[in-house]
Amino acid sequence: MDLNTIETIIPVRDRDALRRAHDGDPTTSVLAGGTWLFSLPQPHLRTLVDLTTLDWEPFTVTDAGLRLAATCPIGALESIPVPTDWTARALFRQCTRALLASYKVRSVATVGGNVCAALPAGAMTSLTAALDGVAELWVADGGIRRVPVAEFVTGDNRTALEPGEVLRAIDLPVTALRATTSFRRVALARLGRSASLVVGRREEDGGFTLTVTASTPYPLVFSHPSVPDPRTLVAEVEERVEAGPGWFDDVHGAPDWRRATTLRFAAEIVEELS
Ligand SMILES: Cc1cc2nc3c(=O)[nH]c(=O)nc-3n(C[C@H](O)[C@H](O)[C@H](O)COP(=O)(O)OP(=O)(O)OC[C@H]3O[C@@H](n4cnc5c(N)ncnc54)[C@H](O)[C@@H]3O)c2cc1C
Repeated sequence: MDLNTIETIIPVRDRDALRRAHDGDPTTSVLAGGTWLFSLPQPHLRTLVDLTTLDWEPFTVTDAGLRLAATCPIGALESIPVPTDWTARALFRQCTRALLASYKVRSVATVGGNVCAALPAGAMTSLTAALDGVAELWVADGGIRRVPVAEFVTGDNRTALEPGEVLRAIDLPVTALRATTSFRRVALARLGRSASLVVGRREEDGGFTLTVTASTPYPLVFSHPSVPDPRTLVAEVEERVEAGPGWFDDVHGAPDWRRATTLRFAAEIVEELS
């Protein structure tokens, strides 16, 4: 939709220009792919600061793992040439396809925009939280801080971003990328938004991690030194969700259904990775 309160769009080319343009003013927002920003009225906004003109390298493969620029298009993930022993790469396609969007949206929507929009069904939040992703944030004073993605998303449409901060990149460590993974997802309709998305990961040293997203307002991560007993894990998930954020409730799924599917997925993932 047209955002008819916008008076200025500033294409920035370096960090200094970004800092000047995005100084914490609440009437200014950064713009990535724009697929969320332009999908809703934004009457409080007057200025958009375009991050795509920074021309960040979309992804970088190193011995330490994978660095995804915040502006990396979601559609590019499936074709990143990664080492063959990065078995967790299967998740790239699974999570990309979990986004309820056509290839046209996927080709402009960015990894960072998805994580910063912080929808519970944010498939890039699921992917990067499940692979121990760490968000690098450019702080307004010129510094950098690093926050695990699982702590970066703090609620429905809420993040740990402070005024004037920008998500620069997400780093995925090689240990997680070499893990064996298991993926479960459900939506109310065949092409519906994710109501529960659960990922299990078993690392080479036997360590096990379960990441629950979409059925809770923010990601919850459960780590064990080895694959746990299914009943133990299911009880742990139920207890932590219910003592914490609770099961998410919106038009894409009732809380009791999200609870039932999430707990079933947790048990199935344990069986699969045992
Ligand atoms: C048809 C359709 C289907 C969709 N389905 C889904 C879905 O299933 N799940 C889902 O989660 N979303 C969905 N969306 C919403 C949206 O498209 C995605 O969340 C998308 O990934 C947002 O990325 P973007 O680059 O377009 O972000 P933008 O719209 O440009 O930005 C989103 C928000 O993040 C902020 N932002 C962007 N980049 C940064 C950064 N680097 N640092 C700090 N802040 C930043 C922006 O200021 C804005 O507040 C859908 C949208 C459409 C149109």
